[in-house]
Amino acid sequence: MTKEKQPCWVKEAEQIMPYVKNTLEELGLSYEVKPSGLYLPEGQDRGIFVGDHLMRVVPEHQLIQEFRECHHFQDLPVGIEGFADRAMNAVYLKEGPFCIVFMTAGHELGHILTERSKEEEEKAFSFQLAWQEAAYKTAGYVRGLVMDSISTYLSRLPKNSPYYHHRQTFSLIKSLQEDGVSLMGLYELFADEKVC
Ligand SMILES: [Zn+2]
Repeated sequence: MTKEKQPCWVKEAEQIMPYVKNTLEELGLSYEVKPSGLYLPEGQDRGIFVGDHLMRVVPEHQLIQEFRECHHFQDLPVGIEGFADRAMNAVYLKEGPFCIVFMTAGHELGHILTERSKEEEEKAFSFQLAWQEAAYKTAGYVRGLVMDSISTYLSRLPKNSPYYHHRQTFSLIKSLQEDGVSLMGLYELFADEKVC
């Protein structure tokens, strides 16, 4: 894997497949990553599978549409880069710069790889930070994937976003990380289950 191959702009899940694979390996997780069989003529339904979970990268208009279908016609909240649909066992990510798409992939996988928990956001942020750390370790190919990209993203969340409180959740997990707590340990703790 070379730095040169890292895509600047991600439009399809296949573009991040090797990075997802390497990061899961680094985390010691045994989910298999494979291309999906969903290749529709428009080319919009491509994706990859992480274990049983389909991950798709879609344009913004499609993310809005998928979100409405999944959330009983609610509008997509501002500042949202992706979401996990448990009923469909799918993760949707908005197309965009590599570091944002890859970071969001980690967060949404953190939601969906384990059952819903009482501390769902704490769980997802723990996984996301573990994901970023692992991505750093696997190689220099994560150029641009700066550790503070989550805080940068969160700092841009407008006050009227229903996800504004994620800032506090993230700060909590970050301070636990700085205290030397294992992120995957935290993930399992918040998920209240062992991950494979
Ligand atoms: Zn979340």
